[in-house]
Amino acid sequence: MIPVLDLRGRTPGVRELRATLPRAELDVEAAVTTVRPICDDVAARGADAVLDASERFDGVRPTSLRVPADVLAAALDDLDPEVRSALEESVRRARIVHEEQRRVTTTTTVAEGGTVTERWVPVDRVGLYVPGGVAVYPSSVVMNVVPALIAGVGSIAVASPPQKDFGGWPHPTILAACALLGVEEVWAMGGAQAVAAFAHGLDDLDPVNLVTGPGNVYVAAAKRLLKGLIGIDAEAGPTEIAILADATADPEHVAADLISQAEHDPLAAAVLVTDSPELAEAVAAAVERRVATTKHSERVTTALTGRQSAVVLVDSVDVGLDVVNAYAAEHLEIQTADAGAVAARVRNGGAVFVGAWSPVSLGDYCAGSNHVLPTGGCASHSSGLSVQSFLRGIHVVEYSEAALREVGAHVVTLARAEDLPAHGEAVIARLPELA
Ligand code: NAD
Repeated sequence: MIPVLDLRGRTPGVRELRATLPRAELDVEAAVTTVRPICDDVAARGADAVLDASERFDGVRPTSLRVPADVLAAALDDLDPEVRSALEESVRRARIVHEEQRRVTTTTTVAEGGTVTERWVPVDRVGLYVPGGVAVYPSSVVMNVVPALIAGVGSIAVASPPQKDFGGWPHPTILAACALLGVEEVWAMGGAQAVAAFAHGLDDLDPVNLVTGPGNVYVAAAKRLLKGLIGIDAEAGPTEIAILADATADPEHVAADLISQAEHDPLAAAVLVTDSPELAEAVAAAVERRVATTKHSERVTTALTGRQSAVVLVDSVDVGLDVVNAYAAEHLEIQTADAGAVAARVRNGGAVFVGAWSPVSLGDYCAGSNHVLPTGGCASHSSGLSVQSFLRGIHVVEYSEAALREVGAHVVTLARAEDLPAHGEAVIARLPELA
């Protein structure tokens, strides 16, 4: 069922691997063309434009874009106690991990009387996007809100698509998760129109400085279009799992994990890299059997048979490491002998899951790690969402007269070398002897 890419007998370089390895064809530029009129319309007509887009794309026109406080409170009251308990555990673990990511102000004395202080300042206001098209993601509320809270962001707004089955409000479990985390500002809007409303503001919605969170291609396109007016975390696209496994892996585990991410989206990517043809065969059989009974069989099948998914056969775990490093998957599992040592050699991956007992779905919900991660190979240059995503480091420079005197001549020299003499004159105005 999953297409096979046989790289045995070869040790392809990074360039070739990037060209050969499967990727979802996600045409964000084409989607930018689609969402530009939506975003322009929101800038021009505000809430009416958002409501029109909701009617068109979500099939419902919510009675108000802002979710009323009593609806939020009722969602938490009505939340299944087991789901509440699981969400609370997810929050507890995410808090433990993200607390460790706090940045501290540092002051460096560069010379006597000359200091550079780095202050970490949270953005004033964020818009957190929680997807709600194909599936609903209360877990994404946790993954967005926890680091924003720990970063100290003062004003947090959440948006999630209105659901026609729930009176035009976002999914009740999403509302309950917001209420659980103390988020009071929740908006029933999705897709590009939500990102545009965050960026431009509405009559009763103040514009935000930063939009974070995963979403489909239209969300990614709107982020790309409005980047600059707002900051963005990343254009997180359809989810990806790569598994590097050898003959010691349990084919049932591997099959279950591939399917678990394929379930997200017909464009989701599931890639097994292995040096064991026997394992590949056993996984293929297990996938076939499991797909027949899994709930979202149709989209799992589309994802697994799509050009973005593959079983990649390689000669050795070493070559497999080259493959997964070139692929830079959003989620990478290592299911090999001595998995810890193999994982230590991974350089590119949004998050790495080590050994038989660390499936990606643990990280999706309850590992404590963040699940908003770079996709499409962006893990080769970017990190997942973290406390850092919500902070800016501001350098505060303070030199005394003596400290400036000590280095002033160098400033004047470099200013002249760059043919920017006025830069030097700013120093000479203070220290005329440098003229
Ligand atoms: P979504 O909320 O991102 O998108 C739904 C919205 O898309 C709708 O509200 C609608 O406004 C808009 N839309 C739909 N069709 C449109 C069209 N033809 N033109 C313009 N706008 C349109 O929900 P989704 O669709 O379920 O996508 C969620 C995505 O997020 C999935 O791809 C999933 O894999 C991904 N995800 C990623 C992570 C991560 O960390 N990378 C985590 C969770 C989910």
